[in-house]
Amino acid sequence: MTPDQLRKYLEFYRDLGMSPLYRRTNGAIAPRRAVDAAPPAEPATAIAPDSPLPILPPFAPEGETLESIIEDIGDCKRCRLHEGRTQIVFGSGNPQAELVFVGEGPGADEDEQGLPFVGRAGQFLTQMIEGTAAREGIPIKRKDVYICNVVKCRPPANRTPLPDEMEICGQFLFRQLAGIRPKAICALGSTAVKALLGTKEGVMRLRGHWHKWRDIPVMVTYHPSYLLRPYNQNAKREAWEDLKKVLHYVYD
Ligand code: SF4
Repeated sequence: MTPDQLRKYLEFYRDLGMSPLYRRTNGAIAPRRAVDAAPPAEPATAIAPDSPLPILPPFAPEGETLESIIEDIGDCKRCRLHEGRTQIVFGSGNPQAELVFVGEGPGADEDEQGLPFVGRAGQFLTQMIEGTAAREGIPIKRKDVYICNVVKCRPPANRTPLPDEMEICGQFLFRQLAGIRPKAICALGSTAVKALLGTKEGVMRLRGHWHKWRDIPVMVTYHPSYLLRPYNQNAKREAWEDLKKVLHYVYD
């Protein structure tokens, strides 16, 4: 890890309110010297470049609830996306859901209503979930699953979230998922794929197969807004197939 990477790493944890951090010595976790998460000068020289990584606290304390995460988010200004938002869009649905859908970020309708996937793409997602479930004889509605995004504030002009925004806000997503502990996750589109699977591999290549976030199976499929484009009929059919697979895996 370069000194610059180390500085960013420590600042990132500081922004989440986690300090001090400790480093491992000779294989043991030794509180040798607290490393300030936001050292004022030359932070990287506090640890020799060839030292092992600092030992960092887990993000999701055992038993964390969605309410406690919401409380922790508060009036979050941890990344620049707070500047243009009307409100934070945390997520909606059953907090004990067996299936969680993860999208990219709020759009204009979501920003206005404070709920994820309520615009055109959201209505299409609802139709997909409820229509597929009904056809497959699975008695679930949208309210039975949980739906959220990688970033909780609307990016300006609906642009794709930047890597640092995804990294900072993605920690709230991870805590949501760890709190809910669903049986499966459905990643909608490339931003969700990058955040959950850490890969730049395209949705087209990854979709239709199971992957993992920690120990939870992840199905990759297209983002509903992509499916709304008129020339994407094939993708629409593939997305129905992906969803069928997820629903049967979770609810059979
Ligand atoms: S996008 Fe996430 S990290 Fe950034 S300000 Fe909003 S809630 Fe905070």
